[in-house]
Amino acid sequence: MPLALETDRDLQPLNSFGLPGHAAHFITCDSVAAVQEAVRLPEFAQASRRLVLGGGSNLVITGDFPGCVLAPRIAGFARTGETTDAWLVEVGAGELWHATVARLLDEQLPGLENLALIPGSVGAAPIQNIGAYGLELTSRFDSLQAVEISTGALRRFSRADCAFAYRDSVFKREAAGRFVIVSVTLALPKRWAPVDAYADLARGLAQRGVSQPSARDIFEVVVATRRAKLPDPAVLGNAGSFFKNPVVSAAAWLRLSAEHPEIVGYPQADGSVKLAAAWLIDRCGFKGQRRGAVGVHERQALVLVHHGGGRGSELLALAQEISGTVQRRFGVQLEPEPVVV
Ligand SMILES: Cc1cc2nc3c(=O)[nH]c(=O)nc-3n(C[C@H](O)[C@H](O)[C@H](O)COP(=O)(O)OP(=O)(O)OC[C@H]3O[C@@H](n4cnc5c(N)ncnc54)[C@H](O)[C@@H]3O)c2cc1C
Repeated sequence: MPLALETDRDLQPLNSFGLPGHAAHFITCDSVAAVQEAVRLPEFAQASRRLVLGGGSNLVITGDFPGCVLAPRIAGFARTGETTDAWLVEVGAGELWHATVARLLDEQLPGLENLALIPGSVGAAPIQNIGAYGLELTSRFDSLQAVEISTGALRRFSRADCAFAYRDSVFKREAAGRFVIVSVTLALPKRWAPVDAYADLARGLAQRGVSQPSARDIFEVVVATRRAKLPDPAVLGNAGSFFKNPVVSAAAWLRLSAEHPEIVGYPQADGSVKLAAAWLIDRCGFKGQRRGAVGVHERQALVLVHHGGGRGSELLALAQEISGTVQRRFGVQLEPEPVVV
């Protein structure tokens, strides 16, 4: 069925925190035409609130959702052309991100191996310009197609249009809530070179005795490292890193590193410094702490977890407690990464 409309749909199995909530209306679309039809339906067009839902791995559901959820489950994987430097592959928004990374590798199209095992859909990847192990989507991105919610028109966004930045894009700012991404065209480098400087990755490769890694080596080390470090949402509800790494000015970095010589920071090209949010949270003693049904992971201070039976409001209260404590102790503001619904 190209378009399916349901009422009172349970969202708990559809978000990686496993938080409870029901959507008043829920539309599943399996084609671009179905999305164009769905955005014109009164249940969606006139809804008090709207949510485009991918894999639900970057969401905090705070309770029942009185509006309409649209899930673009559009399949598709096709080589569509090339540029001077890259092979272009257009992938449907509903394809799983990790399966896409693995398939590209199997088809001798390396380039995304550093982003292996990130949960969620291809359509959501541009929203926060997903990144891991020294690589961001923007480096392997050509363009995307999206349906404009107000008109149903199909629009193409170039890399420049998307205005990608660290865990950020135009879809979190000016274009927030205005588009349903239906496909993403990836740009896989014709001359592949490893991106292997990231400390955890370099360590993992060294431990395996690999000095000139192939894309497959990087894929395997990233998968193994992530499995060892991050809780599996199927076992323990979470959304990966809960806070972005805060970026501070050079002056703030001088003050912080004088007061806390062990602080962890990464200098950026523009002179600012990206702080390790996990270090700040760990120093405030939150690692492994539990507040009822929610808590901070015992090995990853950046990962908030839901042990079951809790609500989104409890998770947000813990997030506020953490960011308030970090603000008071270090004068640094933490910003949550997941979208609060
Ligand atoms: C264990 C774990 C590890 C993670 N590790 C990383 C990591 O290393 N790096 C990283 O960047 N992220 C990471 N994440 C976060 C998350 O996986 C990514 O942000 C992912 O891209 C979210 O995809 P999703 O399909 O689940 O999106 P959802 O959670 O469903 O949605 C996220 C946002 O995108 C919007 N959206 C989704 N699909 C579309 C669409 N087709 N059109 C328009 N808007 C859309 C939603 O409305 C929402 O605002 C991790 C999460 C988990 C649970």
